[in-house]
Amino acid sequence: MATPYDIFVMVKQVPDQGSKAGINPDGTIDRARAKRMLNPFDRYALQAALYTKKTYGGRVTAISMGPPPAVEILLECLEHGVDRGVLLSDRRLAASDTLATAYALYKTIQHVGHFDVIFCGLQTTDGDTAQVGPQLAERLDLPQVTYCEDFQIRDGKAQARRIIEGGVQFVESELPLLVTVANSYHPLEYKSFKGAWRVQKLARNPEEMGKYIQTVDLDIIGADPERCGLKGSPTIVAATEKVGEIGGNCVMHEGHSPDELVAEVIEQAQLKEFLIA
Ligand SMILES: Cc1cc2nc3c(=O)[nH]c(=O)nc-3n(C[C@H](O)[C@H](O)[C@H](O)COP(=O)(O)OP(=O)(O)OC[C@H]3O[C@@H](n4cnc5c(N)ncnc54)[C@H](O)[C@@H]3O)c2cc1C
Repeated sequence: MATPYDIFVMVKQVPDQGSKAGINPDGTIDRARAKRMLNPFDRYALQAALYTKKTYGGRVTAISMGPPPAVEILLECLEHGVDRGVLLSDRRLAASDTLATAYALYKTIQHVGHFDVIFCGLQTTDGDTAQVGPQLAERLDLPQVTYCEDFQIRDGKAQARRIIEGGVQFVESELPLLVTVANSYHPLEYKSFKGAWRVQKLARNPEEMGKYIQTVDLDIIGADPERCGLKGSPTIVAATEKVGEIGGNCVMHEGHSPDELVAEVIEQAQLKEFLIA
């Protein structure tokens, strides 16, 4: 019989980059107005967590730090088959840099308890530093596998294939460990019927939410508020600059044979060159 593993997956809610809502004129994000989504890189981490559960047995806990609406992504994780979610939410976390974020998440993980493997995304689409996973591994004193694109457990040991410059590397580690999952891993599968049904039921009976999603604050996890938020963040954003969009307009050609389409594209390119000259 498969050994049941305690699998954690770290997920972050990020602004939806496909939406113009919540973008200030200077290009910065107004997080309160921005449409929100599960960090696209975390979808691969979620898939790795669910695959590990399906193949080797166990349960998956999704952990997130963010304002109260971040519960939306934990519900999305439940729909995909995650067993429970934990949201760290506290006003004192506002303006946390990666150091403070990793500290707060480390305290959350310690509060949640035993784990065999922690999956993180490679990076986020907003902060984009790729620092949180490795910082968590350091704080938890865990071996870490970064840029992982295949993960298996054999004879109680983790075996992983990771991307390196110009090739791949095969590594083995004792459990527990932390893994950051590359976006060359398998895409996230469809939501599970059982998970989607559970979330539907929660929508009708919100008083049952606590059965599946626990919300914690800094006091509950025993984190030092001095090490969180602005006070705990040595990074200072000196300035932000809006960079111009690169590239020209895209023209769609439809409704002709491939030969005609190619001739048309060449003709237009030649015309453009003539006009520029
Ligand atoms: C001075 C300063 C002030 C900031 N103020 C704010 C602010 O007020 N509000 C704000 O939202 N951001 C703020 N940020 C950005 C915030 O620090 C980063 O978004 C955060 O530290 C995570 O870093 P990242 O997004 O680069 O994640 P990465 O390191 O790129 O993420 C890698 C992986 O770590 C995990 N992970 C990352 N963040 C989380 C999370 N929150 N919960 C669960 N898992 C996670 C995910 O698995 C993710 O794929 C601020 C940054 C600075 C420098």
